[in-house]
Amino acid sequence: MKTNIQGLTAEEFDALMKAQGEPAYRARQLFQWVHQKLVTDFEAMTNFSKVQRERFTSLWEVRHLGIEAVEQSKTSPTRKYLFKLPDGEGVESVLMIFENRLSACVSTQAGCAYGCVFCASGLFGLKRNLECWEILDQVYSMQRNATERISNIVFMGTGEPLANYDNTLKTIRLLNNPNGLGIGMRHMTVSTVGNVPMILKLADEGHPIRLAVSLHAPNDELRDKLMPVNKKYKIGELLEACRTYQSKVKRRMTFEYTLIDNVNDSPSLAHQLVNLLRGFRCHVNLIPLNPMDEYKGKAPSRNRVMAFQAILEEARIPVTVREERGQDITAACGQLRRRMMKGA
Ligand code: SF4
Repeated sequence: MKTNIQGLTAEEFDALMKAQGEPAYRARQLFQWVHQKLVTDFEAMTNFSKVQRERFTSLWEVRHLGIEAVEQSKTSPTRKYLFKLPDGEGVESVLMIFENRLSACVSTQAGCAYGCVFCASGLFGLKRNLECWEILDQVYSMQRNATERISNIVFMGTGEPLANYDNTLKTIRLLNNPNGLGIGMRHMTVSTVGNVPMILKLADEGHPIRLAVSLHAPNDELRDKLMPVNKKYKIGELLEACRTYQSKVKRRMTFEYTLIDNVNDSPSLAHQLVNLLRGFRCHVNLIPLNPMDEYKGKAPSRNRVMAFQAILEEARIPVTVREERGQDITAACGQLRRRMMKGA
């Protein structure tokens, strides 16, 4: 069986080529073909001799994901990809085109174990962690299909990135490598449900990665109901970990808050949120709920969203309401995969 070299680090490329009696500069060239030019066919690697290319082909493969479906939104420059993994699992990624940047949102797990009540990704539970190459090639596949350079990465698709810590971090470092796509760490965001020990571990890495924490409720009683993870890590402990992260990484954090009509969107809860976040250098992202059949909650009216936002603004907490992008293509996390799992 051929060795898959997709997802290997520069050091691993060195070792691989050394074992073939090739010098270090050849390892760098191969790394650039795979991680910068995103080439998967050794025959196209023209600065290697024919003999070398044939040898590489007989030993190795550069695996890449099969694109199962692509949906282009009619209402916004957003494209959603469904990728099929070798074992038949599916994962989703989204490419969002903004005025000055191209942002790729990728998945880190097939399914999710955390079971937040309003999220389609948690419906089938966790199937498995994605391997590094499976996370990486979501970006590479979208880049191969794009005319502009992908400038930002958000680990915010299906799954909890910090529960697949090693593969997520390896992916981040490969994307950051100057002989690869060279995407700055500051342009990468890791979203977490509130996995306290892993937030602290990530803080110790010292990379200037932006952390986005899914909060969704300002008190434990409500958060317990919406997010089972809160039974393990209470809000106080979570925010303490966030403070540690901020003091070590020195970056403004994002708190994600999905607004659900008459569940967590009242003015008094907005005031509680203000009290909770006082003193934080942060930004709050309000996300009106994306409806799904399996959860009876719905998005609040525009007035309720604006009232909630105004309370945060009055307290000088930077806040935005997340632009609804690609609702026509079920761009909410997990919904395309769910359709595939249901055979729809
Ligand atoms: S919101 Fe995130 S952590 Fe919660 S179930 Fe969905 S994918 Fe998992």
